[in-house]
Amino acid sequence: MTLHLYNTAHRKKEEFVPMEPGKVGMYVCGPTVYDRAHIGNARPVVIFDVLARLLCHLGYEVTYVRNITDVDDKIIEAAAKNDENIDKLTARTTAAFHEDMDELNALKANQEPSAIELGNGNFKMIEPRATEHIDGMIRMISTLIEKGHAYEAEGHVLFDVTSMADYGKLSGRNRDDMIAGARVEVAPYKKDPADFVLWKPSTDDMPGWDSPFGRGRPGWHIECSVMSEATLGITFDIHGGGRDLIFPHHENEVAQSCCAHDGAEFARYWVHNGFLTVEGDKMSKSLGNFRTVQDVLEEAPGEAIRLNMLSAHYRQPLDWTAEGVTRAKANLDRLYNALKHLEDVEAGSIEPAAEVIAALEDDLNSPQALTELYALAGEANKASNAAEKARIKGQLLGSGHLLGLLDKSPKEWFQSITVHHLKAESIEARSELGSPVLTSVISKENIEALIAERDETKKQKNYKRADEIRDNLKAEGIVLEDGPGGTTWKRA
Ligand code: AMP
Ligand code: ZN
Repeated sequence: MTLHLYNTAHRKKEEFVPMEPGKVGMYVCGPTVYDRAHIGNARPVVIFDVLARLLCHLGYEVTYVRNITDVDDKIIEAAAKNDENIDKLTARTTAAFHEDMDELNALKANQEPSAIELGNGNFKMIEPRATEHIDGMIRMISTLIEKGHAYEAEGHVLFDVTSMADYGKLSGRNRDDMIAGARVEVAPYKKDPADFVLWKPSTDDMPGWDSPFGRGRPGWHIECSVMSEATLGITFDIHGGGRDLIFPHHENEVAQSCCAHDGAEFARYWVHNGFLTVEGDKMSKSLGNFRTVQDVLEEAPGEAIRLNMLSAHYRQPLDWTAEGVTRAKANLDRLYNALKHLEDVEAGSIEPAAEVIAALEDDLNSPQALTELYALAGEANKASNAAEKARIKGQLLGSGHLLGLLDKSPKEWFQSITVHHLKAESIEARSELGSPVLTSVISKENIEALIAERDETKKQKNYKRADEIRDNLKAEGIVLEDGPGGTTWKRA
């Protein structure tokens, strides 16, 4: 089997053949940093993270680009609403995005390839920020004007959609659909209602850059055309994002990039994830039906969120429910219990199982890959001889790693689950009492700090304080067990 991906451009599953043998360039539209990411925004992050891991495992040298959109009208609005400086707001929300995605075990920009150990291929992740590429945007807009694909009007520069014969091809939309779908402003200065903005004027209190078209700022679409070219070149292999981006964002990226480069091919494979939904509706800030990643992390470990995200095929909708997260936690319990059962053996070669690779090569069929992983856990529990156990352990860890799962020790997993369990209980208890939720739940770090303090007090023969710490923890539902290797803890 070789890797097959569904290519939105051709509306079918196709064999993946990179432009240059052995190398893959992948660009995925990243977040607009004006607020905390919601759990829907995390879906493309997790999906393309698994695709990057798979490509590395298949031996490709992978350059994975995920941009940060740090100039956008939503950012200007949020800064005004919060009465916050724009740079501070984007720095704060970018840091929050990184924190949240770290919890989901997503690959990081500038991570050393050796630290990733993804396979034979080299891995590089780049995270360009739009504000670092303004010069390139001004250059591309100037080229589009020179070539007759864009025009200036009242401080704006607009892309002339009638100048491109196959505008609309990626999304397969006709003109009327495009005008309705784009919800583009029917401004009097536009030659055609479907023309879209490349550059717009900024007032003094807005972020703006001097340009041949006046002081202003770029439109959203031109940002990705320029950042992808700067990092991957004019033509590259894979372009990803959520399906909401097919039109207008990706359609417009194609228009800008192809017209600026005399029709040269832009992205070769277009891969789009389906929506994360709430009771059938797309999770979005505008509908107000969203939960931030941070909120969900209060109730479940990041690994359970990640597994739940992978439990549906990426092109299908995924309805986000508390039951789904609980099921993901239970499935991780199963997997970590299998690893616990294998604790007495050294893992054999840490390689994903062939069935797991085959499932992922088939258009990233993560639900099937998980089914294979559970089957391995079942085998682990039945295995009796050491060689068999070593093989299964190597495959469980290797397959888990390919999916970004099972990086913890069973002990770490069961302790993290305990802390979240306590938090969830505490939320319930406190809500019943009508008191504010989530104010003082003991964290894993606090438990460990108290154990260290107790060790110290025991050394100083202050047994009274040592017992007090143990009793206080017991009152919080944490039981300490003193053993030859030191003190461990578990939930009562
Ligand atoms: P934004 O910050 O709104 O540009 O979104 C960042 C990324 O999240 C894009 O790739 C979107 O397609 C994706 N996205 C936003 N909402 C959802 C959702 N409910 N389900 C899946 N992907 C989404
Ligand atoms: Zn984009």
